[in-house]
This record gives sequence, C-alpha cells and structure tokens, in this order.
Amino acid sequence: MQVTRTLPELRECLTTRPRPIGLVPTMGFLHAGHLALVRRARAECATAAVSIFVNPAQFGPQEDLARYPRDLPRDLRMLESAGADVVWVPEADEVYPRGYQTYVTVGRVAEPLEGAARPGHFRGVATVVAKLFNAFTPDHAYFGQKDAQQAAVIRQMARDLNFPPEIIVCPTIRESDGLAMSSRNTYLDPQERRAAAVLYRALSAAMIAYQRGQRSADNLRAAMRDTLSTEPLAKMEYVSAADPDTLQELDRVDGNALFSMAVRIGKTRLIDNFLLKDGSWDTGLIQGKGE
Ligand code: AMP
Repeated sequence: MQVTRTLPELRECLTTRPRPIGLVPTMGFLHAGHLALVRRARAECATAAVSIFVNPAQFGPQEDLARYPRDLPRDLRMLESAGADVVWVPEADEVYPRGYQTYVTVGRVAEPLEGAARPGHFRGVATVVAKLFNAFTPDHAYFGQKDAQQAAVIRQMARDLNFPPEIIVCPTIRESDGLAMSSRNTYLDPQERRAAAVLYRALSAAMIAYQRGQRSADNLRAAMRDTLSTEPLAKMEYVSAADPDTLQELDRVDGNALFSMAVRIGKTRLIDNFLLKDGSWDTGLIQGKGE
C-alpha cells in the first residue's frame, strides 16, 4: 500500500497502477462502513484507491471541523488490512492552495434536507469530489447509502459535468442495535449512545407502517416523529419521505421512496435513512450479520 501526500506524488504513483481504478473518498477515522466500501473497490477493481481528507469546504462555521476525529496511523493500518493499494492524504493547502476560487454548485437535488440544514455543505462536497475525480481519474467511485443525499448530489454532478466514473452506492453498515456507523458516533457519551438507536427504530416504524398498508407520506413521517419523541435525548431536525432521485417530499408512497432523518442527540447531529426501491427495503447491514 502506497501512501501519498502531494498531488504530483499521487499522479506519479497512479501511472504505475493497473486499471480499473476504484476510488473511495473518506474523511478518515475509519470504521467498518468505510472498510466495506474499500473491500468492494478491492473486489471490483485492479487498483483500490482511498482518499483521507477532512474537507474544510463542507463544514459550516459553527460545525465540528476543528474537533472532527482523526487517527491517521490507525486508518492506514485498517486500509492496509482491507486491501487498499493507494492512499492520498493531502494537506488542506494542497487541495485549496492560496488564491483558490472555483466551486461546484449542484442545483435542486442539493437544496432540501441536508442542503437546507447545512448551507454550503454540498457545494463543499461537490467541489472536493470533483477535485478527487480529477486527481485519481477513477473508473468507479464508491459512496455509502448512509449519506443518501450526498450520493444523489454526486450522481447528478457526474451526469451534468460528464465525469466518467461509475458511481456505486453501497449499503449502510450498522452497529448491533441498528445505529449507522459514523465517525461522529465517537462524540456520544454512553447514555447518548444508547439513545442514538432511536433513529433506527424510527425508520423501522415507518417501514412497518408501510408494510401494514400505510401509503400516506404524512402518516409515514408521523410514524418516524412519534418514535423519535419517545426518546428524551433526541431532538428531531427533520424527517422525510422523499423521491430518492429528486429528494422532493412525497404525498403518497407508491413507488420508490427515501425515508430519512436528521436528529440531534445532545450536541451530536446524526443522519440515517432507509430506501424503498423496486418494492424492497434497503435498510443496511448489521455488522456481523452478513457483513
Ligand atoms: P465520511 O468519512 O463520513 O465522509 O464517509 C466516507 C464515505 O463512507 C461516504 O461515502 C459515506 O457515505 C460512507 N459511509 C460512512 N458511514 C457509512 C456506513 N455506516 N455504512 C456505509 N458507508 C458509510
């Protein structure tokens, strides 16, 4: 596994690597969710490439950029054992040198939900992913269903700007109580950690209501809200039952739908989702059960 720092170093290293190249963009502090993406890239591509970059452009001024968890030695050990071939760990001024002034703004799909709650977030995400696509020239790029709107935004950007890589979205990997793995889970104290399982229960409540015949999106959103309200430590930011491609809220759930939410547990903001696609539910994978 080759670890590179500068862009010329990365480019040089990639010239010697076989195609197809699969890219897994990350912000580090890796967990089993990231490693599932790396293993998928490893299985499907001749070169499995990973970026570790805590992208300042996607954090708001009041957000957790400064305290975002970091542990590069541990990340590199995990990537080595997952079979990564090339890792790029740039400094912020390698990605955004002095005088930097070009950003990618995706339209409607980036506006609701996370886009509304975190102004500028997807502009930062789309910009860094565009730069990563140019840096790695990957054939495939792997993203997690955990960040469903991010995947939709990147798919839209790739389509609109003719970026070549195929965008592959992999299932959400979960802890045994259903909590979606996230680097931010490390912020939770033990009591908050127990409370955080309410997101999975709330998404499950919507799924069960749907399976019992409920098709009103308002009622399905209410099922999620009602479950969240049973947990005193949980403060709902939004619940949504939306079209998975456009992210527009639905009136009725008759076909595909993305059920998603953002919830604060103490100071920690968590997001999660279930996807109803072609009549079946993508609820992710509990680690150890099929992971
Ligand atoms: P991050 O380091 O949080 O920016 O995440 C890097 C990539 O890993 C993104 O494509 C995320 O959607 C994905 N990811 C994060 N958590 C999970 C998870 N629990 N399961 C699957 N993919 C994940």
